[in-house]
Amino acid sequence: MVIESRFSVTVPNCSVQQWLFGSPSGHLPDRKVWIDADHPATRFFTLASARALAKRIAVGLRDAGLQPGDRVLVCAGNNVVFPVLMFGIWMAGGIFTGANPAYTARELAYQLKDSGAKIMLTSEKSWETALRASADVGMALDDLYFFDDTIPDVDHNINTQSRTEHCHWTRLVACPVKGDAFSWHEPEDAASETCCLNYSSGTTGLPKGVEITHYNHIANARASMSMAKHDLQNDHNPSRSSALCILPLYHAFCQGYYVTSFPGQGVPVYIMSSFDLGRMLHHIATLRITKIFVVPAILMGMTRHPLTRKLDLSSLEMVGSGGAPLARGTQKGANAVLFPHRDASLKQGFGMTELTCTALAWDPDSSEKEGVGELMPGCRAKLIDMDSGVEVLEAGVPGELYVSAPTMMKGYWRNGEATAQAISTDNRGARWLKTGDIAIVNKYAPGAIFHIVDRAKDLIKVKGFQVSPAELEALLLERADVTDAAVVGVAVDGEELPKAYVVLAQGCKTSGPDIEAWVAERVAPYKRLKGGVVFLADIPRNPSGKLLRRVLAERAKEEAARD
Ligand code: AMP
Repeated sequence: MVIESRFSVTVPNCSVQQWLFGSPSGHLPDRKVWIDADHPATRFFTLASARALAKRIAVGLRDAGLQPGDRVLVCAGNNVVFPVLMFGIWMAGGIFTGANPAYTARELAYQLKDSGAKIMLTSEKSWETALRASADVGMALDDLYFFDDTIPDVDHNINTQSRTEHCHWTRLVACPVKGDAFSWHEPEDAASETCCLNYSSGTTGLPKGVEITHYNHIANARASMSMAKHDLQNDHNPSRSSALCILPLYHAFCQGYYVTSFPGQGVPVYIMSSFDLGRMLHHIATLRITKIFVVPAILMGMTRHPLTRKLDLSSLEMVGSGGAPLARGTQKGANAVLFPHRDASLKQGFGMTELTCTALAWDPDSSEKEGVGELMPGCRAKLIDMDSGVEVLEAGVPGELYVSAPTMMKGYWRNGEATAQAISTDNRGARWLKTGDIAIVNKYAPGAIFHIVDRAKDLIKVKGFQVSPAELEALLLERADVTDAAVVGVAVDGEELPKAYVVLAQGCKTSGPDIEAWVAERVAPYKRLKGGVVFLADIPRNPSGKLLRRVLAERAKEEAARD
């Protein structure tokens, strides 16, 4: 049975830039949108200065040869310019694709090649990696730029080190006069024009480019704004609310709130350029932050940190957790520490890269406390029994969560097969996304509260970051001494970690730590086999050769309980 959201959402058919800035040259309210949390008085963008710089970036990208539909890969940590750069890419008609700055050259080369990016911008930390990755895929050095938090002044003076000056991203910033005259790219149909390729492995296989359209982004922002009971530039007082951005801006979870929804609500966004728990707590106290989104691992850190009890964090009104399951104990503990004098204000929501950002969240007036909330405006859901494939009709009975929403991706980039596996169309023509997550509901009616009770897909989440088992398995099979491999997630001290089961070729000898070290050299730190390596004679498979991942996951659970 289908459950409908209690709320609807109206989505204008325009670009994200038109939705936020209105028009390329009209008057804008003089309010701050993105602020450097470490230098709030001097380093910030107002709506007007963000639009002006984004337009100059768009002109520069066009001058560098970018055509509408071309991809621009950004591999950088957060900084105050990052969201403005995203808008510059969109204004030029380009597609933004973000990569984790912790990627190794092989991971970056994979995304460069898969997305077919024409231009790449990377931070200092990733520069050497980017040089190797771009050489691997034959990208010209001219298309590679060094990206940092320089805010170009009106005269466009570049003040950078000579080593990278010729590649510095501000070379992509046209002069203010050219920027002023620029009228940005406006899609003919915002519902079909992709603006982001956010990478996700979905329910199975290797990471894939998730095509998010302008319409998807606006639908997500409008839905979360109406859920929060705020509207674009409405009459609420923005000076009272402020949000702190600590999640990575290349990821869907962060984009949906900090690039679109909060700026649309008139809530200033303070951006931390590097994550540090103590500094984050200080920022909450001194900047009087009211809203913050976190992943459960950060929440655990906040709960235990001595500064949490010492500093005045009473400005916090809403802490949202997402990206991975939040244990009931952690939620209770964090609520008690963060909101000692108030009713539970720490809630968890549910989202997915394939759904732009969020699908389940909370009406601030709800009296319920546990679970991941109710359907976002415009969303519909059903639960499907994993064994029978039949719709679940009873409250409290688990089933795989399927979602139909205006935020649902267009599909996986240049991968029709994976798209067809993930999205089905019902006899009324509605598209449904198979989430791979197992849920229960408290009732079959609008306003139903959902709980995520298990994950059925081949995905490991480490501190909220996606780890694709298929990617690690393919990597292990590159070793001459490995004939078969399977990777599963195992919970250790409340955190999920990748663990490998490996079959060695006859006569070969190696150790678990050796394999762990070999993998560690080739992947970003969060993908390392910190759950360990176990050697087996055979990997359990069914008669047709399909990996019995559940069997290994159970085995990993038992081994963890014994250790
Ligand atoms: P991503 O696409 O990286 O945002 O990952 C989406 C996946 O994270 C979901 O399909 C879930 O498996 C998991 N996830 C997100 N939020 C929650 C939550 N509140 N509880 C349990 N799992 C979650």
